[in-house]
Amino acid sequence: MASALGKRRSIQLSYEGKGLLQKQSSEYYTRDGAKSNTPRCKLLPLALSRGLCLDNFVAGRYNAPMSEIPANYRDMDREALLSAIAARKAELGETLCILGHHYQSDDVIQFSDYRGDSLKLSQIAGEQTADHIVFCGVHFMAESADILTSDAQTVCLPNLSAGCGMADMAEADAVAVALEEVAALAGGATIVPVTYVNSTAAIKAVTADWNGACCTSSNVRNVFEMAMTPQSFGGCDGDKIFAIPDQHLGRNTAFAMGRGASDCVVYDPQLPNGGMTSEQVRAATFILWKGWCYVHQTFTPEHVRAVRAELPNATVIAHPECPREVVVECDLAGSTAQIITAIDTAPAGSEWVVGTEANLVYRLAAQYPDKTIRLLGDGAARCVQMARIDLPHLLWCLDSIAAGEPINVITVDAETAKKAKLALDRMIAIKAVSEVIQIRPEGA
Ligand code: SF4
Repeated sequence: MASALGKRRSIQLSYEGKGLLQKQSSEYYTRDGAKSNTPRCKLLPLALSRGLCLDNFVAGRYNAPMSEIPANYRDMDREALLSAIAARKAELGETLCILGHHYQSDDVIQFSDYRGDSLKLSQIAGEQTADHIVFCGVHFMAESADILTSDAQTVCLPNLSAGCGMADMAEADAVAVALEEVAALAGGATIVPVTYVNSTAAIKAVTADWNGACCTSSNVRNVFEMAMTPQSFGGCDGDKIFAIPDQHLGRNTAFAMGRGASDCVVYDPQLPNGGMTSEQVRAATFILWKGWCYVHQTFTPEHVRAVRAELPNATVIAHPECPREVVVECDLAGSTAQIITAIDTAPAGSEWVVGTEANLVYRLAAQYPDKTIRLLGDGAARCVQMARIDLPHLLWCLDSIAAGEPINVITVDAETAKKAKLALDRMIAIKAVSEVIQIRPEGA
């Protein structure tokens, strides 16, 4: 957690006292008890259409995110930006650590000291001693980094409008209500929330309140198994898992564990009791929050069939954030890290079609010229929010650090951070799986 330092600009992530809306059955109320007809989830499409983090959108901030950055940064040409960033990075030396997510552009990620997926970057953030961590990822990742670093360190997100469409599909108050509803419907069964790291710090705190854990797509299966292991064997003793916020990751993991569609039920936060009956909850093992990633949702079964006709020898691999009907058409499913390992260890001459964010796929294609690597689909798999971290914002951020007044500092309030850290520590302690999931038998 970063402490309050001078005049730096920060986004305060306390979820108390902001007038956020709370769901109670089919009614929505503000914190002061006034009834509202506008649940936050109904604001999501509008926020997404503007590429905004929902919390920033609701709070009326960053409606015009690009206008915030001083004009001199917007007006610089690419070459000038590249050399200015390199010079600033050299000047700041070991006081600075830049973390870059795999989905970032080549322009930005070339400046990262470490690159990785959410799990790896969380682990690295917690090990850093640099005064300033600049996170070239999205909002929830910078929150996790702030939680895992010391009070003396600052974590900056170069552009505060770099939210995550999936993370914004759940908010803490609604998740807390949902857990109560599901527990009531479950007739005494123990519900353990397993929250994808792509979620706000406040939801991670709610997860800890319910004795749950966070997960990433690399270790989700191990976390699910831990959640249902008896306490005497170090588990959470759960009868049922509430997977938040990505329904596809939850469903694909359930299938990977040998379960089927009948073991899953979807909780829709816009409906009373999530739209579920008590019978459905009692019959299910996996309750899935109705969230998704719009990037991975762009892939369709038709994309897989079309590329099989074109490249019959290619191995098709998809991220488990893709819908089940897409994954089931593929040969393999794997997290970002698992996809990278599978391609890295594949023989020269092998052909791959990959269903995940385009920046990573194109970078892999350039990195392994001895293999054929193609992006699945029609090129639409771009994370708009990741792209909001660009060269002008990165330079603006580094300049502000050099000037002693860091901008866009992410600060999670102490109480939320303390609880969220419990859920994150459980995630970090649980081993990632390096192997991909076999969907179709080899040679089929
Ligand atoms: S790719 Fe999807 S899950 Fe990942 S940051 Fe972008 S919107 Fe969020």
